[in-house]
Amino acid sequence: MRWKSVLAASLLALLLLGGCTSPQAAVETTGPKLLSVYIDGEFVGYVADPEVVTRAVQGFLWSERQRWGMWVRSASDITFVPSRDGDGPILTDASELVAERIDVVTEAAGIYVDGQPVVALRSPEEAAEALRALEDAYLAEVEARIRAERQNIRSFSIDEVTRPEKVETRPWLVHPAEVRTVEEAVAILQRGTDKVIIHVVKPGESLWSIAMANDMTVEDLRKANPEVDANPHLIRIGQELNLVVPDPYITYHSTDTVQYAKAIPFSVEVRYSAEHWPWERFVSRYGQYGEKLVSVRTIRENGRPVSREVIEEVVVRQPVSQIVVQGTRPIPDRGSGSLIWPLEGRITSGYGWRSLGFHRGVDIAANVGTPVKAADAGTVITAGWVGGYGKAVFIDHGGGKLVTVYGHNSVLKVKPGDVVSKGQVIALSGNTGRSTGPHLHFEIRVNGRAVDPVEYFKRQTLGQ
Ligand SMILES: [Zn+2]
Repeated sequence: MRWKSVLAASLLALLLLGGCTSPQAAVETTGPKLLSVYIDGEFVGYVADPEVVTRAVQGFLWSERQRWGMWVRSASDITFVPSRDGDGPILTDASELVAERIDVVTEAAGIYVDGQPVVALRSPEEAAEALRALEDAYLAEVEARIRAERQNIRSFSIDEVTRPEKVETRPWLVHPAEVRTVEEAVAILQRGTDKVIIHVVKPGESLWSIAMANDMTVEDLRKANPEVDANPHLIRIGQELNLVVPDPYITYHSTDTVQYAKAIPFSVEVRYSAEHWPWERFVSRYGQYGEKLVSVRTIRENGRPVSREVIEEVVVRQPVSQIVVQGTRPIPDRGSGSLIWPLEGRITSGYGWRSLGFHRGVDIAANVGTPVKAADAGTVITAGWVGGYGKAVFIDHGGGKLVTVYGHNSVLKVKPGDVVSKGQVIALSGNTGRSTGPHLHFEIRVNGRAVDPVEYFKRQTLGQ
């Protein structure tokens, strides 16, 4: 039971007792002059002279001020009560007792969020600095998110930053150990301190994977674990890591506007042309992407987007359509009757009898790989290996009445059934089949009978 009014400062208690004005003290004049000492209502011993305690308290406060580097005062009540029948220890040195029993406090600058003290700093100036740093950190986070969310950003602005909580700075009496640095205060305001989760490192884990799995940054993980911060490359299996999952005391709402460039796709136009065969399809003009600048407004809560709206789109460059030409030229079902020579070259063997037998065509010298052209438009009736002709192409120029033959090729460019135009490359010359050197064997068959190609061309040229 408290016996006298409690006084935080022991000096004041001494003043009262030193005057000996209390009725109790005046009565007890015959007994031993001992005083019972109470700290925070608890009896701790007797002293003959209260100076024993007050000097110890002054010494303790002095050393605490040195230790913490800030003004502190006692938070404990020390009471002296005159006693006659003391049989406890009589204190001659109270310094150990005082160091154990006395609590000290300092008047810190408390940041209060919605009326609740959250973090203590050394001064109102440091509290203001922490709040500024907190907002700067939020702006930096939003900027990092904006840059991660879009490519080709041309400009952005972060507008209206607000916080829904009521935040104020007021004096707060705390133990000196509770006073935080600006950096610590920012971390507490950002992450909160009410949640503590321990993670035991498992094989194969990294700081990165642990942080990702817990919605933290590696930097946060490092701050929460000083030993890891010292050497982030050495985390070991079984190690306990503090995971302080962000649960901020102060939240931010913000709006940002981002302008970015976006490609506009081009269309493809098909133009039909009777100047080209149906198998001809080509790009006559390549398409080009256009570009527009898109402005997007995003509303965020703690950096996370909660709504997003396109507010403007400005076309900077229109796309250019791609033009594809598709041939529609009617396919002749028979040749013109007017032939062209399949390739230019020296005739090394003519039509007619020779030592090996009757030669049904002409041999035209050509290096392997020389393009072989169709003598006239027509339909491919054979394309493949034909005995002594090697790789050969037969083209019907109209109802079987006129057929041209191209032998000894190295590569065939057509297949049976293909409709070819006059002059179209149908093969590359070669040396396949019964051949004694690279050349093209060219035959003209009229009504199934091979004629002399040279004579045929002579008559054709003379109009006979
Ligand atoms: Zn021949």
